[in-house]
Amino acid sequence: MHPTSAAVGPMDAPQQAFSAAQQGFDRYRHLSIAARLAELAKLKAEILRSRTSIVERVMAEVGKCRTDALIAEIIGTVDWITWLEANAQALLAPERVKTPITLFGKKSLLLHEALGVVLVICPWNYPFHNAVTAIAAAVVTGNAVVYKPSEHTPCTGLLEACLATSPVLQALVQIVYGDGAVGEALIEQGPAKIFFTGSGPTGAKIMAQAARQLIPVELELGGKDAMIVFADSPLRRPVAGALWGAFTNAGQSCSGVERLLVESAVYEPFLEQLVAEAKRLVVRSDDPGDADLGRMTVAFQRDKVTQHVEDALAKGARLRFGQVPTKDHLLVTPIILDQITTDMLVWREETFGPVLPVMAFQDEAEAVHLANASDYGLCASVFSADKKRAMRVAAALEVGGVSINNVNMSEGNPGLPFGGAKKSGFGKLRGPEGLLGFTRSKAVLIDQANSKIEANWYPYTREKLRRFDRFVDALYTPRLLRLIYVAWHGLRLEAFSQKPRCSTPNKI
Ligand code: NAD
Repeated sequence: MHPTSAAVGPMDAPQQAFSAAQQGFDRYRHLSIAARLAELAKLKAEILRSRTSIVERVMAEVGKCRTDALIAEIIGTVDWITWLEANAQALLAPERVKTPITLFGKKSLLLHEALGVVLVICPWNYPFHNAVTAIAAAVVTGNAVVYKPSEHTPCTGLLEACLATSPVLQALVQIVYGDGAVGEALIEQGPAKIFFTGSGPTGAKIMAQAARQLIPVELELGGKDAMIVFADSPLRRPVAGALWGAFTNAGQSCSGVERLLVESAVYEPFLEQLVAEAKRLVVRSDDPGDADLGRMTVAFQRDKVTQHVEDALAKGARLRFGQVPTKDHLLVTPIILDQITTDMLVWREETFGPVLPVMAFQDEAEAVHLANASDYGLCASVFSADKKRAMRVAAALEVGGVSINNVNMSEGNPGLPFGGAKKSGFGKLRGPEGLLGFTRSKAVLIDQANSKIEANWYPYTREKLRRFDRFVDALYTPRLLRLIYVAWHGLRLEAFSQKPRCSTPNKI
């Protein structure tokens, strides 16, 4: 019988889940990559088949609009599995590594091996996408997974229903529901690695707890992404890009635009267009398909939006569009603020809601300085008709990803790694780096089965030391015909090393 991905109660769940995942790992650890991909292909087919019900379930729990749900939860997820199908075999195959001349006659190999049972902990904003992306990478690399969704958007039973298409995946993926205390109990079970997506404060707690058991962690944390618009950019595109970048998923996106920097020469016309377009946005719950924004997910996040907006207004910001959210409901009209100063919460801390503060800049240097003056460093975007300048700015930004003349789009390519700099975390999801993050590399050096003695083995003698010294000189002193010198001294050292020691043994 396979252990199945069953949801169990919070008390005994951590121990049961780890034990079932370990059984799954032991049972399937020798499954080929092709066989693992075949299981993921079943999951992909099931996601596509049941995409409408997945979208509706996520809409109901997160509150997002229908198009946001389809794009991020379904397309983003299926794209990643498709990328794994095309790339995982080659990336995970044993690699031949060049062996230097000092190790003549030997071969070097690099293996990418599974870690064991890994723990995936997710936040509430993209509950299906975040979970399946990490789970697919973990499984294709040979691991088993214990997954804990957020207590705010657990989508209970949704993932289990998708995994039911593959008994192998059911055995390899165990799901435990619960809050932070359950997360702590899961870490106590000693996973091989923790893949955490969520807020910085929780990331710090997890890292501290993991440190006590020396468990490696990857942290995908919050952001305060800047979007920079230069005056040479045709305005229509960055205006539309800023609205989508700031307000997609009701602003509850780790790489949403949270700071908009506009070159002063076009600042006012840009802002006027931005506000005019914002007025057209449709905000509603139970979206049949033509809403741009849904509701916010949780009351505490809406209250944070209120706090940031009130703080900004108290410090002199101007409300260009929207209104301060009230406590009555979670539907929040997009908010655009200007006359921003850098001491305002809305400019300094992650808001994670539909709020867009806008600031003017004079020149390229000031734009880069303002964008980098943040504790966070997840992603950024640059709009300019001058490709060289856009690349220069992209290189100067202290972030994990940059979109040029687009927004939130470096993460749209599953072949590119996603993950932050500074307090936005470390480690990557997706791309080759993200995939290899779920593996342990093993270095293998292969030599001949013969009776030869290595030059660096005992006995050490003065004569051997002299010959080693000559060899070092031949190796590293630049000269004509250097390789002939190296070969000559290497062979002499090698021949000398085969002779037995003639001195008296065991003298201290
Ligand atoms: P959160 O940190 O409050 O919770 C995230 C998860 O951690 C939840 O499942 C929660 O139950 C669990 N948790 C809480 N305390 C824990 C503990 N002590 N030990 C173990 N697990 C614990 O974050 P959130 O409010 O759910 O999500 C919003 C945050 O996530 C934002 O900061 C957002 O930017 C960030 N985020 C980052 C990315 C990214 O890829 N960088 C993606 C999405 C969201």
